[in-house]
Amino acid sequence: EADKNLIQNSIRDVHDFPKEGIVFKDITTLLNNKEAFKTLMNHLEERYKSYNLDYICGIDSRGFIFGAALADRLGIGFVPVRKKGKLPSTTVCEKYELEYGYDEVEIHLDAFPKKKPNVLLIDDLIATGGTATAASKLIKKIDANLLEACFILNLTFLNGVKKVEEHTKVYAVLDI
Ligand code: 5GP
Repeated sequence: EADKNLIQNSIRDVHDFPKEGIVFKDITTLLNNKEAFKTLMNHLEERYKSYNLDYICGIDSRGFIFGAALADRLGIGFVPVRKKGKLPSTTVCEKYELEYGYDEVEIHLDAFPKKKPNVLLIDDLIATGGTATAASKLIKKIDANLLEACFILNLTFLNGVKKVEEHTKVYAVLDI
């Protein structure tokens, strides 16, 4: 509980970003706080060390930070899920709906050298769940065993967890 407060208090609210009326949860103030960052990583390592994971998949771009740090702690590989057009080799892609229009995420077709690997998906925050749902579909498309999707923050009022739970189990460090 004290640990959760330390982590939660290290995250800053930025009003009117990226546009008026939005309160953006800024995790840069968690990353530059060594106690908060270490406490979070200790918690994630403790939770996932018994999952027998082969890879951590992180979502572009803040999911890369937590995902790569966790992969290193667990002694396993890291795989990026990226916004369209960023990955250099052959990819598979998945469209998802935004407030206005669509976006796409991609993963390398050969992202997992091991067959039928156990994978954890991670991102900093779940809002509507659209991004994580698309990322979950990608991971399954290339024949991985997606064990769970993990988020540091869950904006509960948007019910994104329900959407992602159609594809995999969900864990959030903080529900707000
Ligand atoms: P969703 O697809 O669940 O609606 O949106 C989640 C994605 O948008 C995540 O990749 C997350 O990084 C980003 N995102 C949306 N709102 C916020 C926010 O307030 N703070 C941060 N750090 N990321 C956000």
